[in-house]
Amino acid sequence: MIHLGLLGYPLSHSLSPQLHSAAFHAVGLDGEYRLFSIHPDQVDELAELVGRMRAGKLDGLNVTIPYKQTILLYLDHLTLPARTIGAVNTIYCEDGCLIGHNTDAPGFLSDLKRCLPEAPREKRAFVLGAGGAARAVVYALLSDGWNVSLAVRRADLGQAETLATSFARLTGGESLRICLLESEPLNPVLGQIGLIVNATPLGMYPDSEACPWPEGLALPEATFVYDLVYNPRQTRLLRQASQAGLQTGSGIGMLVEQAALAFETWTGQAPPRLEMMAAVEAE
Ligand code: NAP
Repeated sequence: MIHLGLLGYPLSHSLSPQLHSAAFHAVGLDGEYRLFSIHPDQVDELAELVGRMRAGKLDGLNVTIPYKQTILLYLDHLTLPARTIGAVNTIYCEDGCLIGHNTDAPGFLSDLKRCLPEAPREKRAFVLGAGGAARAVVYALLSDGWNVSLAVRRADLGQAETLATSFARLTGGESLRICLLESEPLNPVLGQIGLIVNATPLGMYPDSEACPWPEGLALPEATFVYDLVYNPRQTRLLRQASQAGLQTGSGIGMLVEQAALAFETWTGQAPPRLEMMAAVEAE
């Protein structure tokens, strides 16, 4: 029996148990996937959960908000992507050591390539937001040769500078810029943008009418718009993009792909992506 789980808070809308149950079933493995909803004040519970994994009672753990960075303190090693991104969403055990990995970045890139098989000639992208998911997206895009502009609100300029500094070794300072997520500064730099990625939580249930794109600013022509938010599937940003005739991608593909890559890491089995997608589409 394989024991997996998800650490986060709150976890009431998580689709991870359905995804992994479908995967266990499809490959014929006996396994369970539990939710470990631990309030950030319950530090003892967090330490106990990590202890259970060290003791071999858990074979793998996913990590989500608000623990993707805090968990680093409890781990023995980080894979290169996790170290560069500075966040972990998947933990596995190797030779008694707890290893932190990040499947958000390859999960995003893989789904982007599925949605957009032919990248534009000018690989220029806008990433909205500078939080944990934005770090994974920026890492993925820079590794794939994109020039990235981080568009953030004024209050997040410091967070964006920190992100840019931590990726400076990867970019040599060349391919990553920061701008304000406001109509006036954005308007003149929108030409030749091939991709916009929403990595803010704006548009997520229950505040589904929120939209990160500045009111009244037209989306640039021939741009692909990808929204990491997957609940609802069609966010207001994606609806606006479709109405402007643009192609779009929903974060549900990334959700399935990051879970599939984690499943493969833990079980060594080829992940049954179709069955995993069907499980979340049934929700
Ligand atoms: P996070 O660490 O809280 O970061 C969110 C970012 O958006 C921060 O920079 C935040 O700034 C900024 N932000 C918040 N409100 C904003 C607003 N009104 N206008 C502009 N920027 C704003 O969250 P996260 O972990 O990066 O997650 C972001 C979203 O991605 C969530 O909806 C999450 O569900 C989704 N996600 C999806 C997948 C997937 O597989 N599809 C994977 C990971 C995450 P402050 O820090 O100042 O608030």
